[in-house]
Amino acid sequence: MAYSGYGVTPELTEVADPVCPADGVVIAIGATGVCRSDWHAWQGHDPVALPHIGGHEFAGVVAATGPEVTRWQAGDRVTVPFACGCGQCAYCLAGDAQVCPRQTQPGFTGPGAFAELVAVHAADANLVSVPSSVDFVTAACLGCRFATAFRAVTAHGRVRAGDWLAVHGCGGVGLSAVMIGSALGARVVAVDVAPAALDAARALGAEVTVDAGAGGDLPAAVGEITGDGAHVSIDALGSAAVAANSVRCLRRRGRHIQVGLLPEGSVPLPMDLVIAREIEIYGSHGMAARDYPAMMRLVADGTLRPGLLVGDVIALEDTGRALAAMSEVSATAGMTVVRLAA
Ligand SMILES: [Zn+2]
Ligand SMILES: [Zn+2]
Repeated sequence: MAYSGYGVTPELTEVADPVCPADGVVIAIGATGVCRSDWHAWQGHDPVALPHIGGHEFAGVVAATGPEVTRWQAGDRVTVPFACGCGQCAYCLAGDAQVCPRQTQPGFTGPGAFAELVAVHAADANLVSVPSSVDFVTAACLGCRFATAFRAVTAHGRVRAGDWLAVHGCGGVGLSAVMIGSALGARVVAVDVAPAALDAARALGAEVTVDAGAGGDLPAAVGEITGDGAHVSIDALGSAAVAANSVRCLRRRGRHIQVGLLPEGSVPLPMDLVIAREIEIYGSHGMAARDYPAMMRLVADGTLRPGLLVGDVIALEDTGRALAAMSEVSATAGMTVVRLAA
């Protein structure tokens, strides 16, 4: 599904098969998630080379491998993080491809996965094995919001059973964090202004929900619920007010994780509290392939159920309609996934 210009409806087009990179693979797509980032690129907020094929949250089967690939072969079931590392720099070699300065993103820096085939570079560094018990629609949900939430909750948040976890903003990333936190035994306080988002958070395991639109002092409310503030607090929305509130919701030695992107750029945080309470502040940007197996095990054994976040499953030719629908609604009822193969 390619679009010739920003905002122009993507059309099913016949294009040349992607060339397999020497260090990469070509993947036959099983399923691809439709993400708000795809919509932003389509709208021209995030410039891409036109005509463009979007789609960055995908899973499928290796169809071809380059001569330098050692870990993968045709027929392997795989997925990839939404940002792929170069596989060669110091960050990639340390397992931190999520911050590789030369990262590529199929669907943004090159043709994406709203297609039958997609090429991925540095396959040994970027591919993740998908067990046969995890279907492609579920695996396609993992690469972007779910992996980002998993890393925020586990690697940065270091959430333990019984800890209070506050999640601000219950969209895709926030609801993923709610599910992951509660599955790991945390007591989750979910914050949003939309009643439907709070209902969804409760269904996914939030113990308490707070309507941030009701007015009042949000950090005080969270403090009252949790006794002394949350152990971990995540801004999954991305705004100056939410980020500052997230820090204020923390107890001493608490951890704030900024996941929501901040379109306004630099935002002030209450650094006086950061000092007085010895608060830790993290930014979280996706998750490298190296860290996927721990998450994949919890998906395979049913501890985590990302499939619950899926809304509509559609055909490839309906991708344009799904993107257009994102112009109308801001909060999604569930993630839309394009399915090409079982
Ligand atoms: Zn790198
Ligand atoms: Zn995405």
